[in-house]
Amino acid sequence: MSEQKTLSFGRRHFLGVSAALAGGALLDFPSLARSEVTAPAGVGEAILSPSAWRQLGRQLRGTLLRPGQAGFANLALPNNLRYRNIKPGGIALCANATDIAACLRWASRHGVPLTTRGGGHSYAGYSCTEGLMINLMSFNTAHYDTAARTVTVGGGIRNGSVYSALQSVGRSITHGRCPTVGAGGFLLGGGVGFDMRRNGIASDKLVETELVLASGEIVTASATQNPDLFWACRGGAGGNFGINTSFTLETFPVDRSVEFQINWENVTDEFLAALFLNFENAPNTMGSRISLMPGLPLPGQPTPINVEVIGQFIGAVPVLDEILAPINDITRPSSSVIQEMAYWSASTFLEEAGRPGYYQERSRFINGPMTPAIITEIRNWLPRWPNAQGAGNIKFFQTGGATQALSPTETAFVHRQSQWLASIEIVWSPGQTAASRDRGHRWQNRFYDVITPLCGGGAFQNFPDPNLKDWGEAYYGENLPRLRTIKTVVDPDNLFRYRQSIRPLLV
Ligand SMILES: Cc1cc2nc3c(=O)[nH]c(=O)nc-3n(C[C@H](O)[C@H](O)[C@H](O)COP(=O)(O)OP(=O)(O)OC[C@H]3O[C@@H](n4cnc5c(N)ncnc54)[C@H](O)[C@@H]3O)c2cc1C
Repeated sequence: MSEQKTLSFGRRHFLGVSAALAGGALLDFPSLARSEVTAPAGVGEAILSPSAWRQLGRQLRGTLLRPGQAGFANLALPNNLRYRNIKPGGIALCANATDIAACLRWASRHGVPLTTRGGGHSYAGYSCTEGLMINLMSFNTAHYDTAARTVTVGGGIRNGSVYSALQSVGRSITHGRCPTVGAGGFLLGGGVGFDMRRNGIASDKLVETELVLASGEIVTASATQNPDLFWACRGGAGGNFGINTSFTLETFPVDRSVEFQINWENVTDEFLAALFLNFENAPNTMGSRISLMPGLPLPGQPTPINVEVIGQFIGAVPVLDEILAPINDITRPSSSVIQEMAYWSASTFLEEAGRPGYYQERSRFINGPMTPAIITEIRNWLPRWPNAQGAGNIKFFQTGGATQALSPTETAFVHRQSQWLASIEIVWSPGQTAASRDRGHRWQNRFYDVITPLCGGGAFQNFPDPNLKDWGEAYYGENLPRLRTIKTVVDPDNLFRYRQSIRPLLV
């Protein structure tokens, strides 16, 4: 068992950060191209001799994979294939926290950039590096404590495995829809899901987490041990403060739920206003996502707006029917599935496969209810989507309810005043012309720039957006100075860094 330490905040007592790092010897981040991002060629190869990599391999109980070895190519791939050309110089399949500490000391000594790979689903490819990728796939256990009613999961477990463990004991946490997302990235960025309006975001129920710090020290963070770090791990986003090897969370009981998936076509602004209003007024036992997309225009007609709503309701079907009645009175659904079933069967029904692809999301929290001004801009901009139907849309995840139970500064997740999380999504295929991809990006950026001032809130750190200029303010708001102070204590030389990582105060 590793020795546990308590951090002394306000005092530098961290070891082993290399002069190379402090002196800025690291190569800079890869430049951001529009649709495809490439790293400077052969960084991992160029900066280190094979013998240095072998030396790392010998220190590990796990395995170090180098380019060309079996399994390397698959493990190097991110979910967002836009970043697939950023290839690591080596992938350390760490077996335990001691292996992670060895990787950190080695990378530090040699000035090698590094990243942590959990589920690999960072929208912005932040678990890609041309240096050392620390892969957490061996940290994949889930243990339910019957007495404490908590679940303890490994830092590299996929959400789907967490859900299987919880299903077997009739419990849940606030969870997302995609089973291949890593629990580590999901929780550290806050973690939103259909249960958040009744139970808060996922990280609100974090009890304790274990981390390996930049120094190689292994520490526990909880309300009583290293509470500042614990605060930062609830919304301060992955890859900033250390490598979290485990998370312990409170769970809640689950039984049955009503899941729904309803579509309406060619809707009016009156319909949209009623839809958002009725959902805002629905009980907190309802969680939903509203997606709006341009439809196919009829000859001589303007491009219609189509709607898909999915979600879950913990309650009776007739109550949900009442919520939907005034909406359906304006426009009849083109399809509607509403069914009560066992809670985890409903979650499986609502599951999103999350297959690898090329995409970019740009998000904004709406602080307050949906407004006529936002609906007007949706009407202006959705029909202007320039590419194939289905490849550009705007989604609204319903927040509010228990997500507002804590104040914006009680955890690092600052977005406590919102009712909706809006996200404009574009997807593309590698075969698409550069011109059409650029048209898609331009549409997304213009639409985003128009609605941002109308939303009033920041951007979601779990949907990192490489185009954001004010990302620190947008992700963390008033919590940014405290996050930077904590970063200064736990990672003073900025070992954990990426394009939008939290910087220590003097860096
Ligand atoms: C299809 C899809 C569906 C999604 N659905 C939701 C959703 O419903 N709700 C929601 O809140 N988010 C959702 N997300 C966003 C997702 O939660 C974040 O992208 C999350 O950061 C991904 O974590 P990961 O471990 O899979 O990704 P990675 O790319 O492996 O990691 C993301 C970041 O966290 C760091 N990191 C990962 N694990 C650790 C760890 N153990 N310790 C320290 N740093 C770590 C990485 O270095 C990187 O910076 C979704 C994303 C996708 C692609």
